[in-house]
Amino acid sequence: MRLILLGPPGAGKGTQAQRLVSQYGIVQLSTGDMLRAAVGAGTPVGREVEEIMARGALCPDSLVVSIIADRIEQPDARKGFILDGFPRTVPQAEELDRLLAERGLSLDAVIELRVDEAILLQRIESRIEAMKARGEKLRDDDNPEVLHRRLAAYRAQTEPLVDYYRRHGTLRTVDGMAPIEEVAATIDRMLSSEAVRSAPEPALAQRR
Ligand code: ADP
Repeated sequence: MRLILLGPPGAGKGTQAQRLVSQYGIVQLSTGDMLRAAVGAGTPVGREVEEIMARGALCPDSLVVSIIADRIEQPDARKGFILDGFPRTVPQAEELDRLLAERGLSLDAVIELRVDEAILLQRIESRIEAMKARGEKLRDDDNPEVLHRRLAAYRAQTEPLVDYYRRHGTLRTVDGMAPIEEVAATIDRMLSSEAVRSAPEPALAQRR
């Protein structure tokens, strides 16, 4: 199973991705997590993107595409993966299409979590307050000003992907404002019709 979760910051992509990971035994590939790890480790990539991420802008397409190209080659991604936070621009989506085609792979679904931006802002702001109250460490880009910039970047650069995948016929839209369990159930229903159509993974077939 190969999926993309599409939606603005705070739409619940991470929550749904984690659940799908345990349900389908596939890996979650979050470019945001990978880039934060690079920043934390102080690698050359990390040093290049640190300031870009802190201001809520997008990192260069070529950089994130090469990270993903390497990552999908890893053995743990063979059974499938959920892309969370990638692609984020039309050129990234085009590169992904090319990467998959070269490997004879395709996407099973692109799931768009559609949300109301005003409610979303409240949701994220209260998440930030709750984390502060618990004394948890916040991300550098978890503050209201940067959040507005991340949302603006989503609208300008990522939202066009909704049309892109609608044209490619792989888009499924879910109401991301519904309770977590309801969103999960809707996604499950969508994927069960996909799963019936796809052949069993070789590793699973051998075990039977
Ligand atoms: P968000 O909560 O905004 O969805 P992510 O954890 O996905 O956050 O990403 C955090 C930051 O990492 C982004 O604001 C951006 O700077 C960078 N980033 C993550 N994925 C990509 C990508 N596919 N293309 C460009 N930049 C990215």
